[in-house]
Amino acid sequence: MPLAGNRDVKLPIYLDNHATTPLDPRVLEEMLPYLTQHFGNAASKSHSFGWRAEAAVTEARERIAEAIGARAKEIVFTSGATESDDLAVLGAARAYREKGDHVITSEIEHPAVLDSCRALEAEGFRVTYLAPDAQGITSAAAVEAALTERTTLVSIMAANNEIGTLNPIAAIGQLCKARGVLLHTDAVQAFGKIPLDVNALGVDLLSITAHKLYGPKGAGCLYVRGTNPRVRLAPIFHGGGHERGLRSGTLNVPGIVGLGAAARLAAAELASEQPRVRALRDHLFSSLTSRLQGVTLNGHPTERLAANLNVCFAGVGSDAMMMQIRDIAVSSGSACTSAAIEPSHVLQAIGLDSESAHSSIRFGLGRFTTREEIDYTIDSVVRAVAKLRAERRPFEIAAE
Ligand code: PLP
Repeated sequence: MPLAGNRDVKLPIYLDNHATTPLDPRVLEEMLPYLTQHFGNAASKSHSFGWRAEAAVTEARERIAEAIGARAKEIVFTSGATESDDLAVLGAARAYREKGDHVITSEIEHPAVLDSCRALEAEGFRVTYLAPDAQGITSAAAVEAALTERTTLVSIMAANNEIGTLNPIAAIGQLCKARGVLLHTDAVQAFGKIPLDVNALGVDLLSITAHKLYGPKGAGCLYVRGTNPRVRLAPIFHGGGHERGLRSGTLNVPGIVGLGAAARLAAAELASEQPRVRALRDHLFSSLTSRLQGVTLNGHPTERLAANLNVCFAGVGSDAMMMQIRDIAVSSGSACTSAAIEPSHVLQAIGLDSESAHSSIRFGLGRFTTREEIDYTIDSVVRAVAKLRAERRPFEIAAE
């Protein structure tokens, strides 16, 4: 099949932006001086090297806070969202243990939340894992039904990393406020993609990581509400008392500068970037469904991230498919668990059987995705599906 109009596409094509994103050159430019001449320790109070580093950290803190309607001192820097999620879930549950021992989360959270919840269970806490609906949504009503007098924390992600489904966080936040329960949201995939305001959402704890935002790997933060209520956390790192004692350890100044720069860019460009990416994603989906039979969407048709498309190609194993489209980087499940051969826990939780889960592909578009790349992807996927289905047919006939 001729690849009309696609000749200028540079290969390989990256469509795995939920796993990680490339560093935006504008972010790198802001980081570079902090890797070389401004290398000071932000905790060094007695000389200009330290002051310079501390000033950069303060500016990054302000930029991130501004992007989510928070105050700068409510931002705690971490090594990324795994640590932010661990600190939020373990830290809040342990700090409020006197008050209660029950935590509510959903079955389709990232392992950073799920495994922290399992660790809490090993400490004697009770955890309710809510089943999402068939499109991946956890409703406020489902949370309400699970609340008990002993519940201290609810942790529900803002957007799912596999199927892109958006949860009704504002409604869950309202409910939690009314019941005096803390709400944590993993906003790793949502931050910079949908508007987020911690007060409008009624969120008490919110996790962010830079590398999903065109920032560097190894830098993240946790928003920790300072008033109304003032959230207490039991730290999980012990040491020099950095970050108001909540996260000891020398600050990763270049990483933090990168996170601040990435947050500022994402917030500034959200309004123009999201419609662009959504149009490309919709073009990808409508072209695949018009040119192929047996293509179904996983997740919610509208309440989803603009850049996410997770689809099941009936009768086509995702591993075989990925071998056919080797010059296009996609994922067959959550990148963080792709070492496992188990079907994705998210796809299973929304009701896919094992075969459908193993026939699903996640396309994650991003800031640098072009129309030419999507057109190339459409042609490649259509050819790959047709080929793999044609190869299957003789075996199926022989088996009858
Ligand atoms: N939460 C979600 C929803 C994610 O997608 C990821 C990364 O895959 C994480 C948490 C973990 O983030 P990090 O890689 O910064 O530890």
